[in-house]
Amino acid sequence: MNVTVRWAPSPTGRIHLGNARPALLNYFFARRHGGRYVLRMDDTDLARSTRAFADGIEEDLAWLGVVPDLLVRQSERTDLYDAARDRLIASGRLYPCYETEEELDRKRARARLLGKPPIYDRAALDLTAEDKTRLEAEGRRPHWRFRLDGLAVQFDDLIKGKQTVNTNAMSDPVLIRADGSYLYTLPSVVDDIELGITHVIRGEDHVSNTGTQVEIFEALGSAAPIFGHHNLLADAQGQGFSKRLGSQSIADFRHDGYEPLAVAIVATLTGTSLSVEPYESLEAIAEKLDLSMISHGAARFDPAELNGLNARLLHNMSYEQAAPRLSALGLEGEATWLLLRENLVKFPDIVEWSKLVTGPVEPVIAAEDREFLALARALLPPEPWDDTIWSQWTEALKAATGRKGKALYLPLRLALTGRHDGPELRSLLVLLGRKVCLDRLS
Ligand code: GLU
Repeated sequence: MNVTVRWAPSPTGRIHLGNARPALLNYFFARRHGGRYVLRMDDTDLARSTRAFADGIEEDLAWLGVVPDLLVRQSERTDLYDAARDRLIASGRLYPCYETEEELDRKRARARLLGKPPIYDRAALDLTAEDKTRLEAEGRRPHWRFRLDGLAVQFDDLIKGKQTVNTNAMSDPVLIRADGSYLYTLPSVVDDIELGITHVIRGEDHVSNTGTQVEIFEALGSAAPIFGHHNLLADAQGQGFSKRLGSQSIADFRHDGYEPLAVAIVATLTGTSLSVEPYESLEAIAEKLDLSMISHGAARFDPAELNGLNARLLHNMSYEQAAPRLSALGLEGEATWLLLRENLVKFPDIVEWSKLVTGPVEPVIAAEDREFLALARALLPPEPWDDTIWSQWTEALKAATGRKGKALYLPLRLALTGRHDGPELRSLLVLLGRKVCLDRLS
């Protein structure tokens, strides 16, 4: 199958987890089918789109592990939209309307009073050439609506199955504003045609747009692509993520030290029949995840699940993978990494944990353990040390004091590390060496 997909964010803010979902679902689909991935910046809204946001989106996408095969910006493709506009005008599908916002409000209020749906009444279709000339002479500039067929548009959704959108229950959509700028609907269709998009995978908030857009594809003489509308990811409170409401962005997760793969897995596998668990790579997820596995119900982000997954990815990370990142933090040593990785939730946690090895550590020594620790010092075997030192030492201590379990181990841990939890003492001991251990036990 020849596949080209696109992810089409509007660069009006940095992307969040909810945006990462279609970004990655499209990528998985492309990988699964050996297809192409287009990044399309929907930046026709000049007032709200910025180049800085667009660059930020590219950066966030790259951090997640996706490099698009092609990047296009709608702001650079106006000629294509103008050509489509002219064709739709010529075929009578695009018509000028002169109502002001207030007039439209009044029409809607009147319809509601009469118990009718507030659908645009198409009064503009009855305007004569003279009417239009007069309105233009008054200084009015038209906005342009697409005349819907009013058919039941049916399509087989890759995720939701058979869908029907009744366009006769909808107002003819405005495709062009009075200032001549394009709304999202038409440029999206023109680009999907022009770029040979075969599959449109996007949020289910677009299902009714699809009804409109299928009619526009037909009006432009093109077959519509195949659609897949996925459930939207809600935040921990069950609200939609928003670029404006200060939802945690992908850039925030990066700055907080999360693994891109953990963020990608949570963004896509939440609300599917696959469980949120470690994968080796995006490719490995692409192999497993079929769009039909996306559930029809809601998908809710669970921050605890992200932390747990992030930790699991780190606990399995090899030293080869970790080494460049360790050295960026001024750290090194395979033994230290293998000892400490078990304790990490996020990679940068390693900085704090490594202080257990490099020191200084404030040993915690309870008054009632003084004597026990003095004995522990005395029984600490001479070097050279290997992995068996811990057992030798604690067996000797057990025999000498009769202590076991927590009473035996916790005072040692508190003295050697200054804390109740942490890495395995067996390996830590060897890393520290005899002299440091003696110091901390005093
Ligand atoms: N810019 C649109 C959005 O972010 C794209 C929707 C689509 O994929 O067609 O919602």
